[in-house]
This record gives sequence, structure tokens and C-alpha cells, in this order.
Amino acid sequence: MELHVFKYPHPILKQKAKPIKKIDAALRDLVVRMFALMYETEGVGLAANQVGLPLQLCVINPTGDKAKPEEEVVLINPVIRRRKGSAEESEGCLSFPEIHASVVRPDAIEIEAISLNGEVRSFAWKGFLARVAQHELDHLHGVGFIDRLTPTVLLSIKEELEALEIEFESNRRLGFLPSEEEMLKQWDQAEINAWVGASSRT
Ligand code: ZN
Repeated sequence: MELHVFKYPHPILKQKAKPIKKIDAALRDLVVRMFALMYETEGVGLAANQVGLPLQLCVINPTGDKAKPEEEVVLINPVIRRRKGSAEESEGCLSFPEIHASVVRPDAIEIEAISLNGEVRSFAWKGFLARVAQHELDHLHGVGFIDRLTPTVLLSIKEELEALEIEFESNRRLGFLPSEEEMLKQWDQAEINAWVGASSRT
């Protein structure tokens, strides 16, 4: 199945991702396809729930340049261990096309995550990479960057958000968007269950 980015206000973006228990060839293939989609849509990070998969997985390349694969980072089941400082920068999101807004976040973080080789790895990041990673981790918890805005900043993008809501509703009415249930059914459930473990099935 071809991947595409789900846009606000699709309910899948509010879904909390499940921890991955098995890394196999199919998951590695998914990572390759997520990177391809991220470059194609000119992003620097992409979380699995943005492509409709409730998995604790995100891909990042802070350069957004596919010619620099050495900058690629894959985070599986990531956890932020430490946060330091505070910084305010403008952010955008592939699920909120053409909207940019100022977000205050910790400036430095330490993250622990599983790599594609199944190894536990720790990262200490500062600045832009720390910001991108926090943005992607938020997605995995069903949190979008608009949930991090001050009321004033949120008000300043109200019209753009309403435009996305109207577009979403009309796409749904015209049948261009599958429902959340249909969408999950479209994916091979056996495959998802193999990654997250049968006990996580809800
Ligand atoms: Zn995003």
C-alpha cells in the first residue's frame, strides 16, 4: 500500500502509538518508504501515526536532504530522559500544510530509543535536531504542534486551521477519505500485530 501523510484534523493524528516489539524486514521496508515520503513532501521528520500507523516509530533527517543519508535518524520506542533550557522557534508540520507558528520547547534533550538494528541508543541533542525530535515524539503521543501553542499564537492561525477542517470535511463527505476504522483495516492487521505483539491488540 502506498503511504501518504494524513492531515489535520484526521482522528488518526490523535491516536497514541503502540510500542514496537519486533523489528523485521517489513518494518525496515516501512522505514525506507517513510524516508522517501518525507523527502518527497520536503519534511525533516515523519512519525508513523502521520502515515496512519499507530507505531512508536519516527524518521528524521534534519537536513531534509536525501543526498545526505548519513544524517538520517530512526527512533523506535523513543523516550526523552532529560530536558534542558527553553527556546522559541517557528515550526511547521506535514500534517498542517503551509501553517507555521512559534513553539516554545526545551532547547536540549537526551533521548533513548531502539535503533533499526534493535540496539538501545542514547542521543544528546540541542537546537534544531532537539526540536524536530520533540515534535515527532509528540506525534507518537497523539499531540500536534498546535497543542503546544499559546492562546494568542493559536488565535493567529485560526483561519488556516478552519480551512483545513473544511477541506477535511468535504473530502470525507465526497468519500475521498477512508474512515479511521476502514483505514486501519486496509493495512494488513497481521503485520501490525506482528510488530506490536498480540498482547497490545485492542
Ligand atoms: Zn508534525
